Amino acid sequence: MEKTQQIIVHGRGNAWPVLLGETHPFYDRTDPRDLSNAAFSLVASENGKITGDVLVDAGHGTVQSLITGSNRIPGCICLTHGHMDHTLSVDWVVQSFWQRYNREKRYPVYTTAPVYHFLIRSYPHLEDLIEYRELSPGITQPLDHAMPFKLTSYPVYHGKSAAGASMLLFETDQKRVLFTGDLFSPLLRLEDYHQLKGVDLVVVDANNRFPWPRTNHWSFAGQPGKPMERSEALNAFLDSLDWEELTTPHGPEACGKTTRSYFKTLRDGWSILHQPFTILEFLKKIEPRRVMLVHYSGTEDSAYYNEPILPAHELQDWVTRTAQIAGIDSHFIVPEAGQIISI
Ligand SMILES: [Zn+2]
Ligand SMILES: [Zn+2]
Repeated sequence: MEKTQQIIVHGRGNAWPVLLGETHPFYDRTDPRDLSNAAFSLVASENGKITGDVLVDAGHGTVQSLITGSNRIPGCICLTHGHMDHTLSVDWVVQSFWQRYNREKRYPVYTTAPVYHFLIRSYPHLEDLIEYRELSPGITQPLDHAMPFKLTSYPVYHGKSAAGASMLLFETDQKRVLFTGDLFSPLLRLEDYHQLKGVDLVVVDANNRFPWPRTNHWSFAGQPGKPMERSEALNAFLDSLDWEELTTPHGPEACGKTTRSYFKTLRDGWSILHQPFTILEFLKKIEPRRVMLVHYSGTEDSAYYNEPILPAHELQDWVTRTAQIAGIDSHFIVPEAGQIISI
């Protein structure tokens, strides 16, 4: 029995890959696929037959990629957070399922409670069409609708507007894949780093090469030329960052027992010094086999560090070199929109 797993890259873009009236060195404005937001299908097969099909996030262009690709409705959607560039296509997928099953069957969506509430506030009509499956921090659950995956969510900080934002870990009996979603920093307990150690693939938010915390995204390196040292801008921001601010978007006080207990353990082991605030700091801790970089912008690198926004192949070369300097030997991929990657 041959089991395989693949990721289909529906899009690799940040919220607005190319602003209207402008160009961007990384994205091809003449290729509609390259104007899509970062979203992925995780597909498991056995002897050529699909056994699981999960859609991870669904922003601009996801449905177009699905229709022009396999033209299949994924088994479920799993959302990292509620921002528009991760949820704009949810309605089209859900409505496709609703029509297919004679307006009787609800479509499964897995996410945390704050993200679900944000989704329903943004798209109120979906409440009657979705079968909501709640994710709680650090709790592993099987995906009933898209076997053979198990899913664990881990909270992240992605600014005040990203209530309940999380990383998503998908596991089968053979492989582990982590989707970070957008984040400024993961909110992981010590035991979670052990759980994530050596994952087969991390799909990571690579918004900028260098830190500019006000974007609510982390950066690849700490500063130009010294990848493992935090820049002045980052240190100044961290000095003003407190526990309340980082954890309020998860509302741990208002949440259930599981979430409260997760955040209590996190607080007991909390240290700004050991907490990762760059991709490299995170990779040092989890040592993944491969890393896929998506959601690139580079705008702040250019505006605040006078460093160029790179085309895709140059970004891939730069991250590979920079990671080597930092002593990280993971393999780095900057994918193309539409690319299929075997895990
Ligand atoms: Zn985003
Ligand atoms: Zn976001």
